[in-house]
Amino acid sequence: MRKVNAYAAHEAGGTLEKFQYELPTLGSDQVDIKVDYCGICHSDLSMLNNEWGMTQYPLVPGHEIVGEIVAVGNEVKNLNIGDKVGLGWFSGSCMHCDQCMDGSQHLCGTAEATIVGRHGGFGDYVRGHWSWAIQLPKGIDMAKAGPLLCGGITVFNPIILAGVRPTDKVGVIGIGGLGHMALKFLSAWGCEVTAFSSNPDKKDQILKMGAHKVINSRDPKELEGIAGSLNFILNTTNVTLDWNSYLTTLAPKGRFHNVGAVLEPMAIPAFTLIGGEKSVAGSPLGSIALTRTMLDFCVRHNIYPTVEEFKMVDVNKALKHLEDGKARYRIVLKS
Ligand code: NAP
Ligand code: ZN
Repeated sequence: MRKVNAYAAHEAGGTLEKFQYELPTLGSDQVDIKVDYCGICHSDLSMLNNEWGMTQYPLVPGHEIVGEIVAVGNEVKNLNIGDKVGLGWFSGSCMHCDQCMDGSQHLCGTAEATIVGRHGGFGDYVRGHWSWAIQLPKGIDMAKAGPLLCGGITVFNPIILAGVRPTDKVGVIGIGGLGHMALKFLSAWGCEVTAFSSNPDKKDQILKMGAHKVINSRDPKELEGIAGSLNFILNTTNVTLDWNSYLTTLAPKGRFHNVGAVLEPMAIPAFTLIGGEKSVAGSPLGSIALTRTMLDFCVRHNIYPTVEEFKMVDVNKALKHLEDGKARYRIVLKS
């Protein structure tokens, strides 16, 4: 048994309050992690507000966790007490379905999500299956690494899935937590990067992060100016934009990849796709192996999210800061 001191909401949109719960005896394939830092993803807000209709209260949010292993089940072979690990949106998968056996554990039909029906990282401890407690490379900056475990891998995976090349011209829609990490990755990849943002105040910072130009994401007229030019577009917003205008900015064979949790159905006109052999795709997070690869890539190229640090006790202030669109660019809670 382990007592966890956490912060939980008891109703949709509710304020987070101090909440203590007990973890039962550790399973043979589980590990306990002492939380050092936990990022705040927009998905934490969506879960808090029950926007996806699957939230169970009390909800302890938090799924961009980095910390230290403090207990290992007796069948865990790869982790030891004292190891520094990260835990993201997933905290377990069956490890025997075709997807898991294929190395795509993030596509497992029964994968366990860290904050769905169980408690996440806004607390001093969190539990997970050994497979998803991902060992962090030596030398990683713990204070900034948390957001890589959800936001980071979510935007890194599409670059691999789409086979983006260094010579490609690419676009990122929405320069928030996910979007700003995508800019940094794609710029390190060698691409010509266009940022689509609705906030002109971010322009200078966006250019410093490696974007070559910034276009107003809500102005189809500005998009007309780059029609037919982009090989790859990544959408990270969760709002409805003029999707047809974005498809029109794609070059022939271009791909529009969606990771934003857009709540309304997206209008995709067939003829815009057919003419230029264009495609539309989506993805959740990424595999365990690809997360490790991404973490190594980040350490090698010194790529980290730009973070604002709040103390865990100020979690409600931090959530409001994100909800008000003021986060620059990812909030991290220090335990
Ligand atoms: P975030 O930090 O809040 O950033 C979202 C960005 O979208 C904002 O910074 C803003 O960028 C843009 N935006 C917001 N409202 C807008 C509006 N009305 N019109 C135009 N642009 C608007 O959120 P995040 O943490 O990056 O998460 C983004 C989305 O990805 C969420 O829906 C989240 O749930 C989802 N997500 C999905 C996965 C997955 O597995 N697929 C994983 C993690 C998160 P500008 O100011 O630049 O316009
Ligand atoms: Zn997330």
